Amino acid sequence: MKTFDLDGKVAIVTGSNTGLGAGMAIALAAAGCDIVGVSRAGAGDTPARVEATGRRFADVRADLASTAPVDDIVRAAIEAFGRVDVLVNNAGIIRREDALAFTEDDWDAVMDVNLKSLFFLSQAVARQFVKQQRGGKIINVASMLSFQGGIRVASYTASKSGVLGLTRLLANEWAQHGINVNAIAPGYMATANTAALRGDVQRNDEILSRIPAARWGTPDDLAGPVVFLASPASDYVHGHTLAVDGGWLAR
Ligand code: NAP
Repeated sequence: MKTFDLDGKVAIVTGSNTGLGAGMAIALAAAGCDIVGVSRAGAGDTPARVEATGRRFADVRADLASTAPVDDIVRAAIEAFGRVDVLVNNAGIIRREDALAFTEDDWDAVMDVNLKSLFFLSQAVARQFVKQQRGGKIINVASMLSFQGGIRVASYTASKSGVLGLTRLLANEWAQHGINVNAIAPGYMATANTAALRGDVQRNDEILSRIPAARWGTPDDLAGPVVFLASPASDYVHGHTLAVDGGWLAR
C-alpha cells in the first residue's frame, strides 16, 4: 500500500505536546514524516516518541492565541527540513459556561485559537505549498460540535462549526493548487480536554451509554485517519470532515 507512504514528507502539527496532537504527530512519524511540533510551553515526550520511529523532530514554540507566530512557524519548518507537505491544525481550547452568562473573553479566547489562528496558519502554509508547486495536505481538527449544538460551550460550538465550513471553503479555493483540505471530527476522546466531563460520573455514564463502540476514543484512534488524509491515498478527497467517533453520530 505505497499510496499511504509518507516517507520523506514534512508535517507541521500544532498542539503536538499532548493528547490528540501527540497521537497524530507520532502516527505521521511512523508513516515516514519528519515532524515540526508546535507547542506553547514545552514539547513534552513527543520529540522522544517521534525520534523512536527513526524520524526527526523540530521543536517550535508558539502561542496561537494570536496570529503573530504563523509566519515564524512556516519559516522554522523550512529552516529545519527545507519543505512542508502537511499541516495538522490541532491546537484548540474549550470554555464552559451557560449561554446567559457567557463572557466576551470566553468567546474571543476560543475563537482566536480554534478558528482565527487555524485560518491564518493554513493561509501561511498554503502560500508555501503554492511556492513549492507540489501541492500539500491540510487536516483541521473539528468536533462533534461541528455537527451538533452541544450545551454550555457557545464559543467552542461556533468555532468548530466554523472549522467545518472553512474546511469546505479552503478545499474549494485550493484544490486547483493540488492542496487537499479536510478535517477529522473526533468523538469523545480521553484527553485533558475532556477530563472534566469524564470526572462527572453522571455525564460520563450518559456519554458512554450513547457511544456504539462503548468506550471513549484514544489518540491512537486518529492514527489511521490522519495518515490517510496526509497521504496520496486521499488525493481526490476534498472538503470532507471525517467523524472518528465510535459511531456517536450514527445514533
Ligand atoms: P488537549 O489535551 O487539551 O490539547 C490541546 C492542545 O492545544 C495542547 O497541545 C495545547 O497546548 C494546545 N493549545 C491550546 N491553546 C494553545 C495556544 N494558545 N497556542 C498553542 N497551542 C495551544 O486536548 P485534545 O483533546 O488533545 O484536543 C486537541 C484538539 O482536538 C482540539 O482542537 C480539540 O478541540 C479537539 N477535539 C478534542 C476532542 C476530545 O474529546 N478530546 C473531541 C473533539 C475535538 P498546551 O498543552 O500548552 O495547553
